[in-house]
Amino acid sequence: MLTTIIYRSHLCDDVPVKALESMVAAANLKNGRADVTGILLFNGTHFFQLLEGPEENVKAIYQAICHDKRHYNVVELLCDYGPSRRFGKVGMELFDLREHDKDDVLQTILDKGTSRYQLTYHDRALQFFRTFVEATEKENYFEIPSADSWDFIPTDDARTVSLASVSSDAYCGFAFQPIIDPLTQEIVSLEALLRTRSGGSPQNYFECLSGDEIYLADLDSKKIAFALAASLGLRDQVLSVNLLPMTLVKVPDAVTVLLNAIAENGLVPEQIIVEFTEREAISEFEAFSQTVRTLKGSGISVAIDHFGAGFAGLQLLAQFQPDRIKINRDLVRDVHKSGPRQAIIQAIIKCCTSLEIAISAVGVEQPEEWMWLESAGISQFQGHLFAEPCFCGIPAVAWPEKKTAL
Ligand code: C2E
Ligand code: MN
Repeated sequence: MLTTIIYRSHLCDDVPVKALESMVAAANLKNGRADVTGILLFNGTHFFQLLEGPEENVKAIYQAICHDKRHYNVVELLCDYGPSRRFGKVGMELFDLREHDKDDVLQTILDKGTSRYQLTYHDRALQFFRTFVEATEKENYFEIPSADSWDFIPTDDARTVSLASVSSDAYCGFAFQPIIDPLTQEIVSLEALLRTRSGGSPQNYFECLSGDEIYLADLDSKKIAFALAASLGLRDQVLSVNLLPMTLVKVPDAVTVLLNAIAENGLVPEQIIVEFTEREAISEFEAFSQTVRTLKGSGISVAIDHFGAGFAGLQLLAQFQPDRIKINRDLVRDVHKSGPRQAIIQAIIKCCTSLEIAISAVGVEQPEEWMWLESAGISQFQGHLFAEPCFCGIPAVAWPEKKTAL
């Protein structure tokens, strides 16, 4: 199927602009053989390229382009399908915006179009040309340095306790993973993640339960989370726990059970955050809202977890505003390479800023993901890049340190 990809990238400082002509000539040969056409714009710093052709070939060429060392921060802006090519001339012309008069450069580009109908701005692809040529999105181009410009240096203060030491008949355990502010080197919160006694996943733990047993087990497990946290010497550290929204609705006096377990372990409600996962529909919204009011009234903070995954993300936020939201790994993954993810995360940030809701990003694995999110304005992160969950323990944190130039 005829496929279009548009990307933007940044020319490496050590590549002379003069070298571009021969680079384009070599690329043309390859593209021509693969029946891939398009146009390449350059503004002195950034490239903007549209590639069109058979899906497989366009994707293969785009992959090769992503690995080309002469440019960096390659961001895919559009991947779409259509009936005909916009720029069908064989050969990929290099169009240097600086050589054209500002007022008619856009028309000059459109005049290069080969589609049967006049190219119009009803087309998303062509709207991207306009924003690139007019540089209206430029403040959103975050030029992040390469991954190896940071070292991640783990501390040596990891500690664990044995599950038996907190409860001789514990039916579950917890792993703890920090949410950190990497630049101020602060642990913002520790999240308690449910595990089976032998360290199996939450899914393993829940799969042998059915019906309302799940909610009872979910709530009851928090007693062990608080006991482990206390025995790990949590003191005034903030602790996050996960709960299914329906756990608070279905289990009678659930908030009282939580508050008692908090007090029994020498903790205070003000240091606890309850994270609700939106993976399941909140079917009894009024009852859920009531328990949230009770939680808030007792001093516990609330967070919407997995924000942006599943359904009801925006609707849930319209109905109820938590103290914080956690952006899901599905949106964080490869954010530095994806225009759509960048636009969505920027919209979430804008929305949360207007509502004074704190944001953290979960599942950060790559330095580039972290750097992009930090440039966009997020300062709290959770992910393997900094610390993996540690069973019955608090892991070491690998804090980033900028490498100094030799
Ligand atoms: P969550 O609350 O979003 O927790 C983060 C999950 O992402 C954890 O998976 C963690 O191990 C994983 N993770 C953290 N950093 C990274 C990373 O860099 N890359 C990747 N790929 N994964 C990362 P885990 O522990 O398997 O938990 C899965 C989900 O189970 C949790 O997602 C949470 O929604 C749920 N869960 C955990 N504990 C409880 C609980 O006590 N009660 C309930 N109802 N659900 C729980
Ligand atoms: Mn969570």
